[in-house]
Amino acid sequence: MPSPVGHSLIGLTLGVAFLLPRCRGADWRQVVYANRGALLAVVLAANACDFDYLPGLLVGAPNSLHRWLGHSGVWAALAGCTIWLLWRRAAPRLPRWALPVLLAAALSHILADYSDEDTRAPFGILALWPFHDGFMIAAHPLFLSLEKASLAAACSWHNVRAVAHEALLTLPPLLAVVFYKLRPMRHDAAATQAP
Ligand SMILES: [Zn+2]
Repeated sequence: MPSPVGHSLIGLTLGVAFLLPRCRGADWRQVVYANRGALLAVVLAANACDFDYLPGLLVGAPNSLHRWLGHSGVWAALAGCTIWLLWRRAAPRLPRWALPVLLAAALSHILADYSDEDTRAPFGILALWPFHDGFMIAAHPLFLSLEKASLAAACSWHNVRAVAHEALLTLPPLLAVVFYKLRPMRHDAAATQAP
């Protein structure tokens, strides 16, 4: 499965693309700060399925429930809706696309984990539960598996390579949407060209 780095970059790409307005480079920091709640919400939604570590952590076996029902599309959609409800309680007015973007971010987790090189049985995730109760995994994985057997394994060179590989795949789309958002707007360009 991709690490939180990969999932967060995918969520941020969706958030920047659909929840942030276009602006000039000079205003970018201000726009990001003003929309920090939206960016936090999409990052949370993109990582929400991995909260299925928590029950296992309480009994000292983090992987015991990981990648089961918590990694189904239905569960991801519920997580996206829950984050939307919490956000709606906290903010007076949400962006128009808030709910669809949160759902897309939550479901992106399922797609990313489906596209992962899983080395531990049962291979894959219950992506389509309850409509299909088999574990599903892509024939040609995009992401490398992570070592998680121990703290030493989690800090291994293999994991550094796996996270770098994720960043290589997920950072360019984020940079592309940021670049698009910072392009001079039409009226700015017209103003620049005016005599
Ligand atoms: Zn996951």
